Amino acid sequence: MKMLLAGAWVDRDDRIEVRDPWDDALIDTVPSASGDDVERALRTAAAATAVARAMRSHERSRVLLGAAAIVERELEDFAVTIARESSKTIREARKEAGRCVNTLTVAGEEAKRLAGETIPFDSFPGGERRHGYFSREPVGVVLAITPFNDPLNLVAHKLGPAIAGGNAVILKPATVTPLSAIKLTAALLEAGLPDTVLQTLTGHGAALGDALVSDPRVRMVSFTGGLEAGRHIMARIGLKKVGMELGSNSPVIVWSDADLEWAASSSVSGAFWAAGQNCIGVQRIYVHRPVYERFRDLVVARTSALRPGHKLEETTDMGPMITRDEAQRVESWIRDAVDGGARVLCGGRREGALLEPTVLEEVPETAHLHRDEVFGPTVNLYPVDDLDEAIAAANSVDFGLHAAGFTRDLDIAHRMASGLECGGVMINDSTDYRLDSMPFGGVKGSGLGREGIRFSLQEMTEPKVVCFYSPGT
Ligand code: NAP
Repeated sequence: MKMLLAGAWVDRDDRIEVRDPWDDALIDTVPSASGDDVERALRTAAAATAVARAMRSHERSRVLLGAAAIVERELEDFAVTIARESSKTIREARKEAGRCVNTLTVAGEEAKRLAGETIPFDSFPGGERRHGYFSREPVGVVLAITPFNDPLNLVAHKLGPAIAGGNAVILKPATVTPLSAIKLTAALLEAGLPDTVLQTLTGHGAALGDALVSDPRVRMVSFTGGLEAGRHIMARIGLKKVGMELGSNSPVIVWSDADLEWAASSSVSGAFWAAGQNCIGVQRIYVHRPVYERFRDLVVARTSALRPGHKLEETTDMGPMITRDEAQRVESWIRDAVDGGARVLCGGRREGALLEPTVLEEVPETAHLHRDEVFGPTVNLYPVDDLDEAIAAANSVDFGLHAAGFTRDLDIAHRMASGLECGGVMINDSTDYRLDSMPFGGVKGSGLGREGIRFSLQEMTEPKVVCFYSPGT
């Protein structure tokens, strides 16, 4: 595939191989953008801000709704692309492609609702004979940097609001999964997006990143990825707007009055979706001691019943991790936890990039599996005696994207909802529930700002005040 640079699909001699993590088969290659390409993209984007701004909101809306219709029409093709280049099974990939249709549709609708307000200038003395309003203006050039784990829908979460807000965009998708992003770029052009308003540069973030994020022509960096790259970018960004959607280590509290069967099945689904490579995947489960053993048996039984395997087979429940190196990292984290006293209740074995879904207990607080974001197919169980203790333990890590609580008691549910420090609390559902139009983002090491179309649209636009003074009235 080619990348979209300065209004044309271009190729480069220096190419990056895109491989299927299941069997390392070569799927395609993409160009590796050079420093000159970055400069050209920045120059083009700066000029394209006038083109993007000139698109009326009905035109932005038409493009976004048109792209949604194209993704829907070619849903199976998008799903197979996701399933081949990433870790997702074909069923998981279809769900992501369907969510991308929703995301683009909401962006197309929100494009028409981008309104300001009138301002009551007479609310203080001195404001007499003034009236006016604020509108929402594009920020200019948005740089969108996206991760591998939702290679289509997380791209739509940036391109949708950026285009709805009238911005020019440079997209830098994850190097291991650029194909879905390129197909979405093509869909937007087919739907009528002017070909310089969006540029999709393929290449290594470590090589291209500094020049892109630090350039003053970029007015907002919208980043989704890991804490380490997020910190690196924040240190170089200079004076510009930023959205940081980072990782997490999501906790769940299961109380003794909960529907344990449902709590177990939704937690297992939340832990092993996309082989656990999910920013809101379940990582730690705190279980009220009276039901600990029963819940543990349910989780182990459901996890052992999962069928890991080939991603394109309809019966497969879980695919491989994104690379063999990543699977080896998680395997070594399991080994470290076991050396520190943890017990593996099921799973734990690895073959290539495929790591079995793994359930552990007695994981020490010093272990990576407890403290850090695992981003792999493991989940830890802990017995707890007291709700305050459970909430404090859930909050004890330096992340806070989503948390979940299972209970039938309204008072306990309220205490969970108010006590858990995070961007979203799911009551009687897995941490990995997300509606694409809700505010989404985290606290602490999980990031800055919110996505969810309406909310990212606010971040990707700026208020502009217009005030009229009438000296004669
Ligand atoms: P990553 O390694 O941080 O990479 C994310 C993106 O940043 C990739 O496009 C990467 O390019 C680029 N990048 C890396 N270093 C960069 C630099 N110095 N300057 C500019 N760009 C740079 O993350 P990942 O492994 O792809 O994704 C997993 C992480 O994303 C997890 O931590 C997960 O929790 C997080 N995530 C968060 C959310 C959310 O909404 N909060 C959603 C999904 C995922 P290359 O691919 O070329 O390295």
